[in-house]
Amino acid sequence: MNSVQPSVDYGSLVNSQRAFFNSNATKSLAFRVEQLQKFESAIRANEPLLYEAIYKDFGKSEFDTYSNELALVYHDIHRALKHIRSWSSVKPVSTNFINFPASSYVIPEPLGVSLIIGAWNYPYLLSLAPMVPAIAAGNTVILKPSELPANTSAAMAKVIADAFDSNYIATVEGGVEETTALLREKFDKIFFTGSVPVGKIIYKAAAEQLTPVTLELGGKSPAFITEDSNLKMTVKRLVWAKFLNAGQTCIAPDYALVHKSIEQRFLTMVVEEIKRARFSIENGNYVQIINLKNYDRLQQLISDSKIHYQGEGIRDQRIFPPTLLSEVGFDDPIMKEEIFGPILPVIAYDQLDDVVQKVKTLPKPLSCYIFTKNARKRKKVLHELSFGGGAVNEAVMHITNDQLPFGGVGHSGIGNYHGEDGFKAFSHFKGVLDKPTWFETNLKYFPQSPLKLSLIKRVFSW
Ligand code: NAD
Repeated sequence: MNSVQPSVDYGSLVNSQRAFFNSNATKSLAFRVEQLQKFESAIRANEPLLYEAIYKDFGKSEFDTYSNELALVYHDIHRALKHIRSWSSVKPVSTNFINFPASSYVIPEPLGVSLIIGAWNYPYLLSLAPMVPAIAAGNTVILKPSELPANTSAAMAKVIADAFDSNYIATVEGGVEETTALLREKFDKIFFTGSVPVGKIIYKAAAEQLTPVTLELGGKSPAFITEDSNLKMTVKRLVWAKFLNAGQTCIAPDYALVHKSIEQRFLTMVVEEIKRARFSIENGNYVQIINLKNYDRLQQLISDSKIHYQGEGIRDQRIFPPTLLSEVGFDDPIMKEEIFGPILPVIAYDQLDDVVQKVKTLPKPLSCYIFTKNARKRKKVLHELSFGGGAVNEAVMHITNDQLPFGGVGHSGIGNYHGEDGFKAFSHFKGVLDKPTWFETNLKYFPQSPLKLSLIKRVFSW
């Protein structure tokens, strides 16, 4: 079976998925468990194809593809299989006095036909990971991967088409035109990962149909480095997180805010660590920039006078060199947009409070990191700033803990996923009051009386 081609009428695809959903076939625990297992087997059996495709698209190694994409998808599947029974169970809750005698409970139900739109930077993770909770909750799925890494998009379409019927899970490959056509259809859930401007387009289209959305967007994630941080470990972890995937990571530390007293030591140590890491395609720890348009965009963000260190780049091969900028200010062009590339601007600060106040004036970031040994400073950043999620003395790794909700806030997104949060994102929770018929207080019925009113007042005040 082939993936659904752009010329196909998406209306009939959506209708066939809705008919399948309405048959209740996707809802039983046994079915959902079987499909999650089938999903994992299909990905595992096709790992060589997936590695080859992503290497062709942007030179990503098997090590990095497994460790920061497929491993997380498998982890999500295993956690879902472990907890699916409890996540799906009907949960009893207490009943308030006015309804006595009765029982109350919450019934989780799948939303229905879901549309998952992926981004290109972690093409497998961002397309396949949201499918796990969609399947676990009992939805059907239309996946629209990013068209930019064309080989990974085709590989996922093949894996999915070989494993599933399109009336249950289908892939639509394509870009703006295909996504725009899809968005004209009525979905029960849209899960989007991508940029803020496209996120707004998706949100508007969803509003037309009152479709619930999860928007996993981006932004500029700060890393605070205080004067009392463990600088050796800070630099090691920060450099890894920044240059992973050549900086094309939504939760990468976008820029570093470094206390003035340690600025020079920090810069020296970052350069040493970049050299030690020997980032390259050959070493398997670096990737190409996705296309020349982005390569040139990155180039334009840099003003030569701010370059503290830059490795060797090759434009033809889209290898952008690891770049460290110093003496940067909030008004520099590099601070005006999400970098999404291997450039680390360093802003030196005097007072933590001043930079915290400054970050408050910027759009709420997807992530925030603080490297410090000082509990007061850690508390200040974690509690005063609003951000999607983050880490202390670490960066990026919070995404690997499925017990933590993953998502943005404000400009960096709406909603969370991974673990149970993902299951919730693809579910509706029906609250039900279940009453027997052998007793009735008659308080709410005609005729009204002062006594009834005073009883109602007392009962509701409990
Ligand atoms: P993008 O917004 O350009 O594209 C995302 C998806 O939207 C793609 O599938 C694309 O085909 C589709 N699309 C593009 N233009 C469209 C339009 N006009 N109408 C309808 N659909 C359209 O994003 P990208 O370049 O693939 O990804 C980079 C962005 O995604 C960055 O901002 C990054 O921070 C963010 N991101 C966020 C997360 C997260 O988990 N929050 C993860 C990865 C990337």
